[in-house]
Amino acid sequence: MPDLPAPDDSLRAALHGVRGLLLDLDGVLVLKGAAVPGAPEALAALERHGVPYLVVTNTSLVSRATLARWGRSVGFATPPDRFQSALTASAELVRREFGERPVYVITSDDARAEFEGLGVLDGAGADAALADGSDVAAVVLGDSPDQLTRENLNRAFRLVLRGAALIGMHRNPWWLTPEGPTLDAGTFLVGLEWATKRKARTVGKPDPAFFRVAIERMASEAASRGEARLRRRDLAMVGDDAFNDIGGGRRAGLRTVFVRSGKHGDAELAQAARGARGYQPDAVAPSIAEVVAALVG
Ligand SMILES: [Mg+2]
Repeated sequence: MPDLPAPDDSLRAALHGVRGLLLDLDGVLVLKGAAVPGAPEALAALERHGVPYLVVTNTSLVSRATLARWGRSVGFATPPDRFQSALTASAELVRREFGERPVYVITSDDARAEFEGLGVLDGAGADAALADGSDVAAVVLGDSPDQLTRENLNRAFRLVLRGAALIGMHRNPWWLTPEGPTLDAGTFLVGLEWATKRKARTVGKPDPAFFRVAIERMASEAASRGEARLRRRDLAMVGDDAFNDIGGGRRAGLRTVFVRSGKHGDAELAQAARGARGYQPDAVAPSIAEVVAALVG
């Protein structure tokens, strides 16, 4: 197993006092379907040194069980319960706000497993509700190359026109796949907003509620280990998205580290810094390997 890189002093200073990490998945741990070089070793080092982490991802393609299984196949030992995804947060929101009322969810069959016990309609169910005028509380838009079809988007469009709430698992416009830059579900969500003249609620990063759930969980785990109270600045969000990870993380009161291993480079970082809110990370690192080396090395 390769060693971690030599710790960088300025990164070490920026991370001084950090007691846990919130890690983005795509662009930090994996990219284009493979592990980011050094990332499996970095997570193993976190485990070895007892540094807690949570993978907080806007990925809504698959369930946590599938994410964990796939992670194992590329070298990660992260169990399903160390993931918090836009998909699981969406299922939680539906459970909390709509109970068992019918909702139309555009997502993969695997991802649908996270909605177990809820009133999820498939395409035929949505058509039946449209035909007989029965209640549909919300439309939830997630990722799925097979399900984001014109037919399904039209079903969603008609249900929202009729009064269903419009919920997006996230608003990511694109991501990097082995085929190159690829449209993400946020692009279709914006299309539905445009057509319906309704503003969607989005659930994943950079929504403050998404970060709050992760922070509260890390804090309660620290308390259960008998540690001192965990403050927001004791956690660092590590991400490759200048807006969702760095901007969202900063607004949530976290320390932030931008890594250059993903889809955004220095140009997006500079653009985020110039924005109205000035999204400047506390540190910039080549990858998660250098971040972990600075924390535990
Ligand atoms: Mg990312």
